[in-house]
Amino acid sequence: MNFFVKTKGHSEIIEITSKVAEVIKAAKIKNGAILLFVKGSTAALTIMEYEKGLINDLKNFLEKIAPENYDYQHHQKWGDHNGAAHLKASLIGPDLMIPLKAGKLQLGTWQQIVLIDFDEKPREREIIVSPL
Ligand code: ZN
Repeated sequence: MNFFVKTKGHSEIIEITSKVAEVIKAAKIKNGAILLFVKGSTAALTIMEYEKGLINDLKNFLEKIAPENYDYQHHQKWGDHNGAAHLKASLIGPDLMIPLKAGKLQLGTWQQIVLIDFDEKPREREIIVSPL
């Protein structure tokens, strides 16, 4: 199973919890766990409290570690300018595993699933949902 999300890039953080829940419901997966995976080396999946302050805090935190405006060696390879995007995506990671019980994601109240697109341009991201 999979679904697609349109993104703007530059560390845009998009909540996808309800979309994932829809896919699980449609597939009638009840118990065990699901694996979520985003295709592409400049996007990532994680879990966070999805609120405005923390959204900005996370973006600022990652920007300190890997600023977009820096001369990364990767830029010499393809002539693109997304070295920071690759580094941030590697740090956060492309996958999540979430337990399921009676068809419900076992998330805490303040745990929302988010897709982060670090690339330097808008993209359409494919997210794979695989029962475990
Ligand atoms: Zn690149």
